[in-house]
Amino acid sequence: MASVDVTVLGAGIFGLSIAWECARRGAKVRVIDPHGPGAGASGGVVGALAPHVPEQWNAKKAFQFNSLVAAEAFFRGVEAASDLSTGYARSGRVQPLAPEGRALAEVRAAGARALWPGFAWRIETASRFPGWHLPGEVVFDDLSARLHPRRATAALVAALRAAGSEVTADAPLQGRVIHSTGHHGLIQMSQGRARAFGGGVKGQSALFAADLRDLPQLYIDALHIIPHADGTTALGSTSENDWSDPTICDGQLDTLIMRARDLVPPLRDAPVIDRWAGIRPRARSRAPVLGVHPFRAGEFIANGGFKIGFGMAPGVARVMADLVLDGRDDIPAAFHPDTCL
Ligand SMILES: Cc1cc2nc3c(=O)[nH]c(=O)nc-3n(C[C@H](O)[C@H](O)[C@H](O)COP(=O)(O)OP(=O)(O)OC[C@H]3O[C@@H](n4cnc5c(N)ncnc54)[C@H](O)[C@@H]3O)c2cc1C
Repeated sequence: MASVDVTVLGAGIFGLSIAWECARRGAKVRVIDPHGPGAGASGGVVGALAPHVPEQWNAKKAFQFNSLVAAEAFFRGVEAASDLSTGYARSGRVQPLAPEGRALAEVRAAGARALWPGFAWRIETASRFPGWHLPGEVVFDDLSARLHPRRATAALVAALRAAGSEVTADAPLQGRVIHSTGHHGLIQMSQGRARAFGGGVKGQSALFAADLRDLPQLYIDALHIIPHADGTTALGSTSENDWSDPTICDGQLDTLIMRARDLVPPLRDAPVIDRWAGIRPRARSRAPVLGVHPFRAGEFIANGGFKIGFGMAPGVARVMADLVLDGRDDIPAAFHPDTCL
């Protein structure tokens, strides 16, 4: 590639989304990842694009809302440019509602009416979603969406290449440099400093051969059940601060699978066809870290997607492209690297 405007280190959902947004705006982009696209947390199977509850509104929730709204056009654009599916669909989310939770659900429904223009959080009878076999009432939100992580990263790579950008294992750094190196990057930055900048939280997940594609995703008893368009259904995830092997799936996942089989009738007899573990990049603030790199003069950082990196990616791509290409800083103060130091 002759001359590169932007080099992105890290081909996870953050790096690839930023690269795509920059390429879409006309920049020549190079993505470098020695381990290959989707080698980190973004190479999994779960892919819930789901909002926080519509209450105690803050900059992070507003940013996430705008990103979730933008996701449809963003991933449709990737699909058009790559001719590949990302597995995106705004299929909504169902959560069982116990009678004692009804008053709070009504408060949240009112919150959504005020804070989620165009989208709803509402109480429905569970029989509206017969495929889930739930009793009583549920909360349904029509903002949540699903994405297939592996397909989305592959589609982003193809879209970038179709736009004349480069995705490679090794090449010189040229132009403006963005570090989106996931938990490795957070750990590396913390080395030798008084306080850890961030680190990694392990998650284990599973994939069932269960074709539930016409159902919304289900959040039940802290389990995420995500029906994908390809006839598989994902189950996530453990949350482990202490781990030694980042890739191994163990008895903690077996327990999750047993709970899912107990709680969700369509999964009772469905075979598990994949088990996957990854390390979520978690900054000390638990929020994304976006902006000018705190330790590398003239360079940039986008990291800390933690548990909601896929849902945040379209918003992260927009503000990082604004900053890197146009010098416009539209990043919430809570996400600035200084806040996490
Ligand atoms: C089990 C599990 C389930 C999850 N479920 C969801 C979900 O349902 N919804 C959701 O929104 N999020 C979910 N997440 C979180 C989501 O996966 C992460 O927030 C997101 O993938 C982070 O993306 P990233 O690009 O920042 O990091 P990564 O995907 O980790 O990418 C970082 C990349 O940087 C590369 N790299 C490292 N060092 C260098 C270097 N020196 N130079 C170049 N490249 C380098 C790595 O090889 C890697 O490919 C889940 C995570 C896990 C583990």
